[in-house]
Amino acid sequence: MKKKEFAVIGLGRFGGSVCRTLSEQGMEVLAIDINEDKVNEYASIASQAVVADSTDENVLKSLGIRNFDHVIVAIGDNIQASILTTLILKELGVEKITVKATNDYHEKVLKKIGADHIVHPERDMGERIANNMISNNVLDYLELSDRHSIVEIVANKRLHGHSLLELDIRAKYGINIVAIKRNNDIIVSPLASEVIYEGDILIVIGADQDIDRFESEVVGE
Ligand code: ATP
Repeated sequence: MKKKEFAVIGLGRFGGSVCRTLSEQGMEVLAIDINEDKVNEYASIASQAVVADSTDENVLKSLGIRNFDHVIVAIGDNIQASILTTLILKELGVEKITVKATNDYHEKVLKKIGADHIVHPERDMGERIANNMISNNVLDYLELSDRHSIVEIVANKRLHGHSLLELDIRAKYGINIVAIKRNNDIIVSPLASEVIYEGDILIVIGADQDIDRFESEVVGE
């Protein structure tokens, strides 16, 4: 399979972290920033790093940006540059564009011009941390939509020694346990006969209100 090629525009904390992680995962990454110091910082991390102004269509064309599988626009403060860059990428026919939004207005415009995926790192991380703080049992959480999530919940003694069949979680709560982490193992798609032990980490998918109900009635103290 061909290695996926990414381009990251804007090497601030967010873009820099995306660039570093993709590179560490062995992906081909072109790092772009208008600031030469930033580009030098990432020269040895990314496959290639170039100084460029992404609001210049000809520059993006000459970099062959159209051929990248996924372009991430991580320009934060300069909303105008972020929007213009996204618009140019869209017009050049880039297949997948992810953009960091700074506020709701920014997000609205990005949606209108066709950004495929919009992220709000500070807001999303704030929600995630707050949700983790509310419950001692919830370790991590991934929002799938406004009303659905995947959550990691620690099983307590109330669940200990019972099989999924006995607990009948799907019928009672309308949620699914898609995997169980136990010590260093992970049981993916556990069978109904699988027995849960205290301390197991249950990876649960479902509607937020159903997960909350499960957590407070069954797992919470
Ligand atoms: P973070 O919070 O992730 O650190 P930020 O929201 O503060 O980022 P900025 O610092 O505004 O974001 O921008 C991120 C990077 O984008 C900066 O390194 C900046 O030099 C770069 N950048 C800004 N405008 C352009 C542009 N037109 N072309 C390329 N890079 C740009």
